[in-house]
Amino acid sequence: MPSFSLNRIDEMIDGLHALARNLWWTWTPDAQDLFFQLSERKWRSSNHNAVAVMNSVSRQELRARLCEKEFFERVEDILAQFRDYMMKKDTWWNAQKNRRGGELISYFTAEFGLHECLPIYSGGLGVLAGDHTKSASDLGVPFVGISLFYRNGYFSQTISPDGWQHESYPMLDPDQLPVELVVGADGKPVVVSVDIGHNPVLVRGYRVNVGRTVIYLLDTNLPENDLHHREITARVYGGDLTTRIMQEIVLGIGGVRFLRALGLYPSVYHMNEGHSAFLTMELLRERMLDGEDRETAERWVRSRCVFTTHTPVPAGHDRFTPDLMEFMLNGWCRSLGRTVCDILPYGQENPANPSDPFCMTVLALRMSRAANAVSELHGRVSREMWKHLYGVPAEQVPIGHCTNGVHMLGWMFHRTRVFWQRHLGEKWIYYLKSKAIWQQVADPELVSDEDLWALRYGLRRDLVEYVRRKVKAQYTRLGIDFTTVQDTILSPDALTIGFARRFATYKRAPLIFRDFNRIMELLHDDERPIQLIFAGKAHPRDDAGKRFIQQIVAHTKNSALLGKVVFLDDYDINVARHMISGVDVWLNTPRRPMEASGTSGMKILIHGGLNLSILDGWWCEGYDGENGWAIGGTEPPADPDVQDAADAESLYRVLSEQVIPEFYDRDEFGIPRAWIRRIRHSMVTLIPQFNTDRMVSEYVLRYYLA
Ligand SMILES: *Cc1c(COP(=O)(O)O)cnc(C)c1O
Repeated sequence: MPSFSLNRIDEMIDGLHALARNLWWTWTPDAQDLFFQLSERKWRSSNHNAVAVMNSVSRQELRARLCEKEFFERVEDILAQFRDYMMKKDTWWNAQKNRRGGELISYFTAEFGLHECLPIYSGGLGVLAGDHTKSASDLGVPFVGISLFYRNGYFSQTISPDGWQHESYPMLDPDQLPVELVVGADGKPVVVSVDIGHNPVLVRGYRVNVGRTVIYLLDTNLPENDLHHREITARVYGGDLTTRIMQEIVLGIGGVRFLRALGLYPSVYHMNEGHSAFLTMELLRERMLDGEDRETAERWVRSRCVFTTHTPVPAGHDRFTPDLMEFMLNGWCRSLGRTVCDILPYGQENPANPSDPFCMTVLALRMSRAANAVSELHGRVSREMWKHLYGVPAEQVPIGHCTNGVHMLGWMFHRTRVFWQRHLGEKWIYYLKSKAIWQQVADPELVSDEDLWALRYGLRRDLVEYVRRKVKAQYTRLGIDFTTVQDTILSPDALTIGFARRFATYKRAPLIFRDFNRIMELLHDDERPIQLIFAGKAHPRDDAGKRFIQQIVAHTKNSALLGKVVFLDDYDINVARHMISGVDVWLNTPRRPMEASGTSGMKILIHGGLNLSILDGWWCEGYDGENGWAIGGTEPPADPDVQDAADAESLYRVLSEQVIPEFYDRDEFGIPRAWIRRIRHSMVTLIPQFNTDRMVSEYVLRYYLA
């Protein structure tokens, strides 16, 4: 092919490698398609990992492929798009008037959920952090993330024939992932040291490129470290409190030191949950070693730190005994010429009591200039929960709220993206937060009922097919004869209800089965069939959560429910993407007010799914009476059993009196007009609000640049 010089082709190969190592491709389907084209087999077997694909294709083969004109032009086009994205100057951030210049926002979090090929997240907290980063990139915010590189990740889940969850841990190979070891100018790895107990522990970092932003994942698995220190960063929330505190020392203290080793001095330190709050102590130490007195240093630290609290569940707030603190942090304290007794009061709810545990949330609250919850209701709950620290009435507690969102593009199923592009034009992705765009969707002239219903049907059918493929291995393991039931697993025409999230018990996955006869009746209405799809992992040490899984799995095996109730194992971002795009109704039944926000219900909006949820977290402020359905009321929490019974009763009533009749109320064309009106109204009222572009811009204006 004379028109392409070998130089040009080699340049493009380098471009493809660079593209694979920037997670921009995770929200750019055309880029994903290139990697899929290069090796469909590897793309699938690696859980959609562009780096693994690139590693599996030789340079010779790439050259040959690039000699095909069509492929060459597609690569050229994507690389140009990527370059434009990376170089874009007229970003939202650059248009902000109150920038001083030179800002850098650092964001510390124990987990990042960026993509299924990088399983270093356990649930919503990590997914939120990932979506936050992607929007920070889209908006042009100067942003750097800090977390840990868990080489055994979070576990893969399989379900044994008795319905019990089993965990196995992957072994992540950095060479096969979209990460790269951070090296200095001398080509040697950048390594910092933190004191844990009496030992210095060495920490290195892996860099993840997420569009225009960068994340550093810290890793203690260096040969120089003792074996048990090498294990610190092995697993997401692995081990006991001892592992937990060591992870948090690496994250908070090691994180600040790693930034310094790179010459980075952020203007803001955002703690995404309290796990990283030791960073405030490290900043304090830096200032004091520089000669500042303690009060001045504290003021400085507070002026730089902001904190987001994510849960009212007590187990979500780490508490360490003074003994454990002493054991783990005495070396660090000595380097400051202090003892642990000097730092304990920063994290004790009652500093007058020397044996009061050290709470990471308390530390973060005390050492931040601003703190926020993740929904309006969660703000109220948090002010009540922490008012004793401030000695003021709850209304005056300085904890605000910034409601969570989702990164719409990253959650968009390909079919949906093509649909919106066709209806809203080329530039629509830039106006996702614009009410005007979604107002247009309310107009059937622009998107007809027929088109919307066809999209819904297509997405539901895609999900049914995905489930049928996915459950094959699982059914065989459970002892169900897959071949005979295959075609009766779910129906592409039935009202499809999804429930997927971590199986923390407060989320009450089995609530819909509380009155078995009632739900059986609904599942067995041949005129108006419904079907249920579940997925989710329980924390390895949460036996109560595992029993919930067991209950659901038992229903899926019940011959009366076979094919109508399905549990998908190994819930991850990929399973989530399939579920949130295909379901008609997303079910959410937390014990109010324990769900701080919840974000999975926001992922369905753009696909035309509807929420059916307890008025908790984001839904408490999102629901307007017509953009979905509410379960239960807003009364103060009752006795758990009473609350469960009342909420289940409400759920059955809403389902049988509202949801099911509306879905099956069809006109002569087979179209449920009222249902589609509700979808439009859901899109118009919710999409502009519950996305991370809106969320990150609020963080910027109210916290980062304030
Ligand atoms: C979105 C998401 C979550 C969070 O779901 P919630 O409803 O907020 O609990 C958890 N895990 C995965 C894989 C997700 O994609």
